[in-house]
Amino acid sequence: MDIDKLARRNVRELEPYSCARDEYQGDTGIFLDANENSLGSVLTPGLNRYPDPLQKKLKAKISDVKNIAPENIFLGNGSDEVIDLLIRAFCEPREDRILIMPPTYGMYAVTAGVNAVPVVRAPLTFNYQIDTDAVLKKSAGVKLIFICSPNNPTGNCLNDTDIERILINFDGLVVLDEAYIDFAPERSWAKRLARYPNLVIMQTFSKAWGLANIRLGMGFADRRIIELLNRIKYPYNVNGVTQQLALKGLSRESLKDKMVAQILAERRKLAARLEQLSIVEKVYPSEANFLLVKFENARTIFNYLIDKQIIVRDRSRVVLCDNCLRITVGASNENDELLQQLMTYQGAQ
Ligand SMILES: *Cc1c(COP(=O)(O)O)cnc(C)c1O
Repeated sequence: MDIDKLARRNVRELEPYSCARDEYQGDTGIFLDANENSLGSVLTPGLNRYPDPLQKKLKAKISDVKNIAPENIFLGNGSDEVIDLLIRAFCEPREDRILIMPPTYGMYAVTAGVNAVPVVRAPLTFNYQIDTDAVLKKSAGVKLIFICSPNNPTGNCLNDTDIERILINFDGLVVLDEAYIDFAPERSWAKRLARYPNLVIMQTFSKAWGLANIRLGMGFADRRIIELLNRIKYPYNVNGVTQQLALKGLSRESLKDKMVAQILAERRKLAARLEQLSIVEKVYPSEANFLLVKFENARTIFNYLIDKQIIVRDRSRVVLCDNCLRITVGASNENDELLQQLMTYQGAQ
């Protein structure tokens, strides 16, 4: 597969902007190259300096934790930036398409729309798995196929055999969004990255790591793909405060694992108790930190919960999600309160 041929022509031919910090790699010296404030900062010392544009220290640490070489890692302002850069690097506006499998994460289609890139839809099957025949049949003119596993909002993982069939038979990039993979780590494709040059894996610090606020997303792929993304990103796309906090966070992987275990235990408990309610028609199996729940009348229940200041995600108007709410697994007391309110609602029917 010729990754360079896949990229947009203008991106291939682009001369990347060389920022001041690209030219000298050392930590010490007299830095008079970037028009920073040499006296210091109005806040913490160090904030006067531009951050490392390629986040080398952070990538080295992520490389250790994930067992992926630094040259195969891209870091962005959330996975959302990775999605945007992939579309901009590979899709000629109004010409090349992306393919998505609804019901899925909304940002793929939104970002394609912003970039004037048409979206082809091959919905999941009734049991929320990939319709591989439909995907391959509709893939003419498609540069990127987005697969989300575990999928948002359905919560399930997509079958490995289907993902592999697409990887082998599709001649564009397959973007596998593993935002929720820390809740089902044995399902990650990261260990198979070297085998598929057209595979891009996205992960994030926003879910299991509990760092949604610092905006840090990861892309893992063949180095030629990483180079293309580096070429078109903003020079300082990941700020220094985020880089520092992520480094610190990565040294606390065991705390992340402990929270994941706790969330999984809460999820099982919450699912079992929801299933006992008569207003609940179905709790879908989940491998993530949320549950997709089918109610008799989702919209009414959504509004009732809002009134009680319990906010869940209404997915009832999404394809294949009739009358469904997506409920994030909360802390134990929050789940108790949710169940209490649902029982009160049920009692009044
Ligand atoms: C939450 C989520 C993300 C994370 O996005 P960030 O920009 O990294 O916060 C990515 N993909 C899916 C499917 C998600 O649900």
